[in-house]
Amino acid sequence: MSRVVVITTGGTIATSTGADGVARPTQTGDDLTAGLRLDVDVDVVDLMAVDSSQLVPSDWDRMSAAVAAAAQGGADGVVITHGTDTMEETALWLELTHGGNVPVVLTGAMRSADAHDADGPANLHDAVTLAANPDARDIGVVVTLAGTIWQPLGLTKTGAGFVGVDVVPHARRRASIGDLSAAEAPRVDVVATYAGSDAVALDACVAAGARGVVLESLGSGNAGAAVIDGVRRARAAGVAIVISSRVPGARVTVGYGPGRMLVDAGAVVASTLPPPQSRVLLMAALAAGEPVDDVFARWGDVPDVRPAGVR
Ligand code: ASP
Repeated sequence: MSRVVVITTGGTIATSTGADGVARPTQTGDDLTAGLRLDVDVDVVDLMAVDSSQLVPSDWDRMSAAVAAAAQGGADGVVITHGTDTMEETALWLELTHGGNVPVVLTGAMRSADAHDADGPANLHDAVTLAANPDARDIGVVVTLAGTIWQPLGLTKTGAGFVGVDVVPHARRRASIGDLSAAEAPRVDVVATYAGSDAVALDACVAAGARGVVLESLGSGNAGAAVIDGVRRARAAGVAIVISSRVPGARVTVGYGPGRMLVDAGAVVASTLPPPQSRVLLMAALAAGEPVDDVFARWGDVPDVRPAGVR
């Protein structure tokens, strides 16, 4: 019989709703797995019980360590239960840094565990089934939600569920950079741009020690003149700048004057990767000491992104 370790971190899959109407993680791994009717030996590691908005990069290291311990202990697969707010960030960091052949499947829920139509149990069932499948060896890190299996790269939470690249797990190309510590990765911030934005936020990030900044740029990769000046200053200080777009689904083409000035100032283009995952990719590139432009040329353009269930 296959053995799967379920690592819990919190999120809506584990919440119940208090008298104040607020959902907080209360369910343990034993609670979550009690209803599983599968021919799989399931072990539980209750690692954290938090809303995923509370997670910090060092928590990704704790998850990596728990995955490594499970693999060393002989697990055939690992499932991580996780909130959906930052699942795209955790999943991409783990994808970039997980080198083993034990499959890691992240899952969560959009509706609280105590909701009459809770989706967590079906998602967990799917995740454990996938992690236990001998054919899943070497698939790396994937996310399963609502009957869809996603690759981490390109996954985005939207108001209507997730969009991303749904995959046949073992046929996909794994995005990989190496074995890295997130806690020791350089600081990377995301800076918003908008009509009339100045460089105060960008300068403050650089002053706070950022070694990289992702610009959540306008349209196909533009920003106002003050921000472009700030980018020139940041580049002169050795800070990596990546241009992503604030427009969902946009491609950064820098086909207009301001975008061209950003590139001329030394900014690197993230073609279609949205800002939160561009930040994770930039953290990994800087931590690994890899050229930022090479890393974004390799992983910054994610084709075939679509909503769940659309083929
Ligand atoms: N706020 C929750 C979280 O990310 C949302 C969810 O899990 O769907 O932990």
